[in-house]
Amino acid sequence: MLIGADGAGSHLRAQLLPQAQRVETGILAISGKLRLTQATRAATPPAFFRGPTLVLGPRGCFLFGSAVEYESIAHPEGTRPEAGKAAVADPDDGTYDREEYVMWGFSAGREKFGIPENNTALADDVLKDAVEKLMAEWHPALRRLVQMAEASTLTSFRVKTSVPIPPWKTRNVTLLGDALHNMTPFRGIGANTALRDAAALRRAFASVERGEIELIPALAGYEREMIDYGFRAVRTSLREMKRVHSEGFLARAATKVLLRAVDSGFGSCAQVGVSWRVVKRAGHSRRPTAI
Ligand SMILES: Cc1cc2nc3c(=O)[nH]c(=O)nc-3n(C[C@H](O)[C@H](O)[C@H](O)COP(=O)(O)OP(=O)(O)OC[C@H]3O[C@@H](n4cnc5c(N)ncnc54)[C@H](O)[C@@H]3O)c2cc1C
Repeated sequence: MLIGADGAGSHLRAQLLPQAQRVETGILAISGKLRLTQATRAATPPAFFRGPTLVLGPRGCFLFGSAVEYESIAHPEGTRPEAGKAAVADPDDGTYDREEYVMWGFSAGREKFGIPENNTALADDVLKDAVEKLMAEWHPALRRLVQMAEASTLTSFRVKTSVPIPPWKTRNVTLLGDALHNMTPFRGIGANTALRDAAALRRAFASVERGEIELIPALAGYEREMIDYGFRAVRTSLREMKRVHSEGFLARAATKVLLRAVDSGFGSCAQVGVSWRVVKRAGHSRRPTAI
């Protein structure tokens, strides 16, 4: 039995399912990080400390921001860390990377950045300049985060998505996570879906182990289920990407109404400025996401 859990560029998928495609969406994302210090903490909008924050900018530009912090005490079984903070089982055991930081990810249609099409390795200052130009009219608090990002943390990537395919004939080779259903990051559910696959595959193996079913039918059941919810996640992530980068007045207004409605279900909405400058807290998770 071979399981391909080798991520979006899966070599195993290329051999098993050569018809499965991964395509460009036309969106370019640039991200940066700031180590948490007194200065960066003071410069960061408070909403970022309460959880992942979505900012709809003008002209189809989008910013995602979040702070990653850790609580210094171990959490008793069954309790949750304070909103916006992650807990580690034993903060002193050295197993975990406990770097605390604020990260942002800026994205827009690739053509808006004015970066040459064939330029693959872009210098940090080119990336930062490109984002700063597109954020020229944004609220100063958000622009400052870009200006303060450490040069070595700047990265860019072209956002891609898998193209859904129908089920294939099951054999003793299967796939899990991004290896099959890689998706745009705009719903923040790729890792969640990969973990769902792992749980479903574990259940399938457990039923084989208990003698309830043969391996291939158990795998076929896993694949049927995983192809269905996995590609559903791919489609909703693509829709979300289009939604947060839409430029039409009506589409943007509808997105704002939706985000505000989701946000109000989770508490008050933090604001920086007015109109498109409103900083929205993402409704789908209050916990920081380490990316
Ligand atoms: C910017 C960004 C933000 C995201 N935010 C979120 C979020 O908030 N929430 C969320 O749920 N998801 C998020 N995701 C998606 C998430 O990161 C992926 O969906 C998830 O990592 C997929 O897990 P995976 O195990 O399938 O693949 P991966 O995490 O890619 O793991 C595959 C592993 O296989 C290894 N590998 C590859 N080839 C080989 C080989 N030949 N031999 C040995 N090892 C190999 C790789 O090194 C890698 O470690 C985000 C993604 C991006 C790009």
